[in-house]
Amino acid sequence: MHLRRKLVAGNWKMNGGRAALGELAVIAAAAREASGVDVAICPPFTLIPLAVPRAGGLAIGAQDCHSKDKGAHTGNVSAPMLKEAGARLAIVGHSERRADQGESDDLVRAKAEAALRHGLQAIVCVGESEAEREAGRAVERVTAQLEGSIPELAGEAELVVAYEPIWAIGTGRVASAGDVGAMHGAIREALSARFGDAGGRIRILYGGSVNAANAAELFAVDNVDGALVGGASLKADEFLAIAKAA
Ligand code: PEP
Repeated sequence: MHLRRKLVAGNWKMNGGRAALGELAVIAAAAREASGVDVAICPPFTLIPLAVPRAGGLAIGAQDCHSKDKGAHTGNVSAPMLKEAGARLAIVGHSERRADQGESDDLVRAKAEAALRHGLQAIVCVGESEAEREAGRAVERVTAQLEGSIPELAGEAELVVAYEPIWAIGTGRVASAGDVGAMHGAIREALSARFGDAGGRIRILYGGSVNAANAAELFAVDNVDGALVGGASLKADEFLAIAKAA
C-alpha cells in the first residue's frame, strides 16, 4: 500500500445554506464507493450539524477553530464544540483568514494544537504571495510559515499540510507541476528534518484553482497527497471528478 492515502478536501468558504445539503448528499453517496481516497467537505459552521448525519463515509470539517476551548471569545467556535458537532477535521491558517483576520503563525499553531488536542485532523495552510514568488522567496516564505505554524505531533490526531500559493486561490491560475513538485519536495524535506519518519507520513495537499481538468496532472506530482479545493468543491460533479483523479 502507498505510504500516504490521498485526501481531497472541499472548502466551501462562506457559501452554502440548507439548499447545498443536496449537493453534499450526492458527494457523500459517491464518497462511500470511493475506497482509494479520503474525501472531506468543510462547509460553513452552521451546516456542520446538518451535514454530519448525511455524510456517511465523507468526513465533515470546519474552516477554522479557536485556539481556546471555551471562554469570552464572541463569535468564535472551539475545537471541542466542533468535535461534539461531529466534525472530524479543521482547516487552520487559510490565507484568507491570515489576511482578513490578521492571523499570525503563532495563532495558527495554537489553533492547530487545539484541533489536534481534541482529536480533529488539522489541515494547516501555508503559501506565498505573488510578490514573494516573483522575488524568488517562495520556498523561504513557506518554510518559515511551516516552522511557525506547525505544532509538535501529538496523540492520534493527524496533521495535514496544505500548500496554497495565494496567487492561485480563486484566480483560475494554477502553479505549474514543476513548481508544485519543487515546493512539495521542500515541504517534505522540512517535515522530515523536524519529525523524522513521521514527517514522511504527513500528507501534503496542493490548493489553488484545482479543477476536474488539472487534478490528474497535479496528483501525479511527487509528494502531492491530495488537494484542498475551493470553488470546484461547490458542485458535486466537478468535485467528484477531482476525487476520482486522486
Ligand atoms: C482554497 O480556498 O483553499 C482554494 C484552494 O480555493 P480555489 O480552489 O477556489 O482556488
